[in-house]
Amino acid sequence: MPRSDGIIVEPVPSTPYLPAAPSADLPAWLSALGLPAGVSALNATPASATAMSAGIAAASTLDAIAELVAACGLCALHKTARHSVPGAGDPRAELVCVGEAPGANEDEQGLPFVGEAGQLLTKILGAIQLTRESVYMCNVLKHRPPANRDPLPDEVTACQPFLRRQLEIVQPRVILALGRFAAQTLLGTSLSLGKLRGQVHLYRGIPVIVTYHPAALLRNEAWKRPTWDDVKLARRILDAARAHDSARDGTSDLPARDR
Ligand code: SF4
Repeated sequence: MPRSDGIIVEPVPSTPYLPAAPSADLPAWLSALGLPAGVSALNATPASATAMSAGIAAASTLDAIAELVAACGLCALHKTARHSVPGAGDPRAELVCVGEAPGANEDEQGLPFVGEAGQLLTKILGAIQLTRESVYMCNVLKHRPPANRDPLPDEVTACQPFLRRQLEIVQPRVILALGRFAAQTLLGTSLSLGKLRGQVHLYRGIPVIVTYHPAALLRNEAWKRPTWDDVKLARRILDAARAHDSARDGTSDLPARDR
């Protein structure tokens, strides 16, 4: 049944025992779950890889990345932004939300996904039993484009090493790509959001689910239902990974990182 905020809350389907860890044989793993395989960016090394600085490569914590972002001048966006917005959340999160770029509220506070769209994202995560604090949130760009214009290709290329290193540090079980820019950047594709939704893609071995950006949901209520379908898919991946770990380790179904 739809709630007052329009999000449809339904029981998350249980997941079967998995034949192998996702990283071992992910296509077989997805097949066992009945999940549709999509784009694999396993070998899609961004063109910006050579531009990644030694500092980014050497950074071993999200705080270190944040410091580098604050000092970054790889593109012109730092000149017009009020604050850098590197990301926020649990550095050991099982799910990472990746959006496009900071907006006005994010630029003002230096935090990702605040304001109305951020509140909606918090509700969406709550519908799959995840708190805002339990996930990690960041954007492809770490500084706000003026007047919220679309990111330019050079800006995405320049900023990509930060996102890449953040995901290496967090090592989430699932990435939720919010909007076309995030999805296309992560997956190295120009396919439309409509074509990318509803499948499990891969970013360097990590399952990626593509859905609408919460700001888009504020403009179009009709996209809330497909977004719910997408986040349920992300939830299934999380549950399946936990079940696999429990079966492998002979432990409870607590998240491995919580034990
Ligand atoms: S948007 Fe990214 S590449 Fe551009 S200045 Fe900010 S951190 Fe550097």
